[in-house]
Amino acid sequence: MDAEASPSPSLATRLRGTLIAATGAWSHAAKLALDIALPTLCVACREPVDGEGVCAECWARLSFIAPPYCPRLGIPFVYDPGPGLLSMEAIADPPAYARARAALRYDDVARTLVHALKYQDRTDLAPPMGRWMARAGRELLDEADVLVPVPLHWRRAWHRRYNQSGALARVIARQTGVRLSTEALRRIRPTQQQIGLSRPERASNVQGAFKVDSQRQAEILGRRVILVDDVLTSGATVDACARALLRAKAASVDVLVFARVVDTHKPPI
Ligand SMILES: [Zn+2]
Repeated sequence: MDAEASPSPSLATRLRGTLIAATGAWSHAAKLALDIALPTLCVACREPVDGEGVCAECWARLSFIAPPYCPRLGIPFVYDPGPGLLSMEAIADPPAYARARAALRYDDVARTLVHALKYQDRTDLAPPMGRWMARAGRELLDEADVLVPVPLHWRRAWHRRYNQSGALARVIARQTGVRLSTEALRRIRPTQQQIGLSRPERASNVQGAFKVDSQRQAEILGRRVILVDDVLTSGATVDACARALLRAKAASVDVLVFARVVDTHKPPI
């Protein structure tokens, strides 16, 4: 994709350019001062980088998902099967949601970014990650009424201080102008971490765990909703959320995640 070839110059770079142009003889000192005031570091490895985002080395290691992919699940195809053809997974086990899109494959670099955002208070990662998601989900976002992040149970939210899916959804809302609803969908019971559970265990773990707050049903009723999460593994969590939103009469539910697990051992259709 065109825009993905190089990250756009950051405000820091532009500011630096303007100031250097304006100060003439003082340019060296000005540049030095700005370098100190506005350090730009690679979001993945923290090495200094020219501009915002990731360094060239980390950029080359990011696996952006691009067409061709399953129009329903967003799973990349090895070759283009032609328009409208679905993946085996979408036919064999159709989810409650309509479509899913992911910015990246969930691999080492994506995992580093997700873990830093989730567990290391690296909220500075949310803007670039959210922007990559907005690009991957452009088609869904064009038709959407409201963004709903996958909620944490209040007890976990309290420990972690913020919801990483909410942070990503906030960036996407700012980027696209689609409304954000962070309170309508609730996690009504705490669930075990999905890590280490089998596919059926994941589904039963989140069964009935989500509910739309009856006081806020108007935010969902008749709306085209996009659920936002950081990682899609088995899809059990977003499926349970989608069911709750559809029970509250959402017009449709799509899913937008930062990264999804892609099973590379499966043969292409
Ligand atoms: Zn880097």
